[in-house]
Amino acid sequence: MNSKNMTPRRQMAVNAAIDKDCPVCHCEMVLPTAIPACGHKFCFLCLKGVSMAHLGGCPICRGPIDEKIFKKPKQNLDLKMDMPGSPAPSTSNSAEKEVKQEPVDEDVKPDVNALNAALNTAPSKMYWLYQGRHRGWWRFDPRVEKDIEEAYNHRMPITEVTICGQAYVIDIAKMTQYPKNNKGAGRDVKRVDSNEFDTLDVKGLAGVFAASGGAGSSST
Ligand SMILES: [Zn+2]
Ligand SMILES: [Zn+2]
Repeated sequence: MNSKNMTPRRQMAVNAAIDKDCPVCHCEMVLPTAIPACGHKFCFLCLKGVSMAHLGGCPICRGPIDEKIFKKPKQNLDLKMDMPGSPAPSTSNSAEKEVKQEPVDEDVKPDVNALNAALNTAPSKMYWLYQGRHRGWWRFDPRVEKDIEEAYNHRMPITEVTICGQAYVIDIAKMTQYPKNNKGAGRDVKRVDSNEFDTLDVKGLAGVFAASGGAGSSST
């Protein structure tokens, strides 16, 4: 109906926006995950929440959701990614590429130094991690992490977050978290800076394994 009146270009713009935003939370997708059968995409945690709530399949087309996609999911992700929708420091990637090109002229070197200096003087970002069931650590979803950090900065001893439609209590005073309805299933949480992050075995983000290995595995 509406789409018939749209110019192809307008339709493309709409499609692009749809492609970026999650139909469940209406925010830019975190860990975009497609349902294999229909291809509709959502945030990993939004889709997992929908699936766990048994609301009747894909929120868009009602098609089946293959539960296998929640078993040991793996994505090529940046463990230290910023929250989608926040001003991205998009310089890092392009700067790296520039450096890797043949060293045509020496002006490239000061660029690297400037970049490093900028990175070192930037206010250090803090990450929130929770303990893995068997080993290692997971980083919280960046949006959840932001809420916890805000609570921390407001000196709240305790806060609540919703993950996959389930309420979790983050006990900041004791540095543990547990499902609100199951206090026994507690796990340790940690607030770390980038340097400490690199010393830990961080497996992935919000239950999604990082395909390219853990933190600190970068070539030295
Ligand atoms: Zn979402
Ligand atoms: Zn669908």
